[in-house]
Amino acid sequence: MEPNVSTPSQIMHVAIVGAGIGGLTCTIACRRRNENLKVTVFERSAEVLPLGAGIHIPPNAGRVLAHLGLLEKVMKEGAGYQLDHFNLRRYENGHILAAKPVRERVTREYGAEWIATHRGDYQGVLLSEAKQLGAEIVTGAEVIDVEQSQSSRQVVALKDGRRFEADVVIGADGLWSSLREIVLGHPFSPTETGDLAYRGIFPRDKLLSLGNENINRIVEKLDIDVWLGPGKHAVFYPLRNKTEYNLILIVADDLAKGVKMAPSSLEEMVAYFNGWDPILDKWTKGPIALLGDATHPTLPYQGQGAAMAVEDGAVLGLLLAQSLEKGLPADPVEKRDYLAALLRLYQDLRKRRTETNVAGAVDTQHYYHLPDGEEQRQRDAELAVLAGDGWLGKCSFNWGDAEYQRSLLGFDVIADSKEKFEEWWVASQKAGANHGGF
Ligand SMILES: Cc1cc2nc3c(=O)[nH]c(=O)nc-3n(C[C@H](O)[C@H](O)[C@H](O)COP(=O)(O)OP(=O)(O)OC[C@H]3O[C@@H](n4cnc5c(N)ncnc54)[C@H](O)[C@@H]3O)c2cc1C
Repeated sequence: MEPNVSTPSQIMHVAIVGAGIGGLTCTIACRRRNENLKVTVFERSAEVLPLGAGIHIPPNAGRVLAHLGLLEKVMKEGAGYQLDHFNLRRYENGHILAAKPVRERVTREYGAEWIATHRGDYQGVLLSEAKQLGAEIVTGAEVIDVEQSQSSRQVVALKDGRRFEADVVIGADGLWSSLREIVLGHPFSPTETGDLAYRGIFPRDKLLSLGNENINRIVEKLDIDVWLGPGKHAVFYPLRNKTEYNLILIVADDLAKGVKMAPSSLEEMVAYFNGWDPILDKWTKGPIALLGDATHPTLPYQGQGAAMAVEDGAVLGLLLAQSLEKGLPADPVEKRDYLAALLRLYQDLRKRRTETNVAGAVDTQHYYHLPDGEEQRQRDAELAVLAGDGWLGKCSFNWGDAEYQRSLLGFDVIADSKEKFEEWWVASQKAGANHGGF
């Protein structure tokens, strides 16, 4: 798909590192909106295989997928399905502490469905859409560095020696992100959570062959079931039209209490470089951004890891496309600084929301894993009355708190970003007129 433009300033080349859920969503958001946004995705694996197990598409991500015209495809080709109930159970006996209706209630409350699917199938749908939209997907391409060219563009360096130029580089390379370390200029691994997860996928016939009445009943449902126990929890839900079932067992390991994941942020990065060798300044001023697990890894207990990556990708795509439509500065240095300023807007739009999600997942870990005792009894008592309030009341546990759930699941990230971009653009034009550029 060759762009139909007359001047170079009307084309933007975006290099995305990582063909995961976030990187592919960003690719689609760029290409769908404006074909003059040329996207090259660099993926380390030789082939994008349908890896993983169950994954959630909560309403905030479902809304973004619908906006990008992808929701129906994920439902059909990815065997996505709407959850009926989200049940919390007592670990000892499976007694239901609360059975939160999901299907109609979530759609009514937050304007989008809550879907579960297989991560590999979901990624496959995004990959074929990205290709169809004309993005170039380069597999077997491990990015090891990003530099600036003499013409103020970004140069992506691959392990095998190949080099590619782009205007903007997006690090969508997941939890163990190299881009994060390139941006920071030093090693920065995510902090361990203190939990270990055992994951398994069980075929339906294997479960039925156990001849257990409770299992036979649960495999017919489209529910997610979570058993809460001291320092542990278990999660179970169907996949691929009830032919497979996802089971995750999470146990606390022996790390010190209070240890949780440590997301990095661009602000943190700027603080790191304060007073450092000016050569490092290029990262704080150059157009390079991180998304998804590369920047805000989270405990997965709210089902929001991929959802936040989807939101990041869609917001970035939208901002890049909108700025291209307004017209980019022709001068390469001005263009670079303009794009760097745009990425600071992206950071402002995403930071608080993703931090709230990371903290919310830590809160969920606390409430899921309460030891038997007074706080656990208080939690169970609060859960027992939530249905009576129509799921609209307050709860000290985020899972049951209507206001928290609305802010997480009901927020329209696309509408918000469109509005904030327009405000930013007007302000940036005034600032540009007053100060002669960014
Ligand atoms: C193989 C795999 C299986 C998973 N399974 C599940 C699951 O079953 N359930 C669940 O809830 N979550 C799962 N996750 C995590 C989930 O996909 C992410 O938490 C979420 O989607 C956020 O994704 P992301 O786009 O930030 O990164 P990811 O989806 O993790 O994608 C990152 C991509 O970047 C690529 N990459 C990494 N480094 C480089 C490099 N230097 N150069 C080029 N490419 C690079 C990786 O190969 C990967 O394709 C899985 C992740 C992976 C990678």
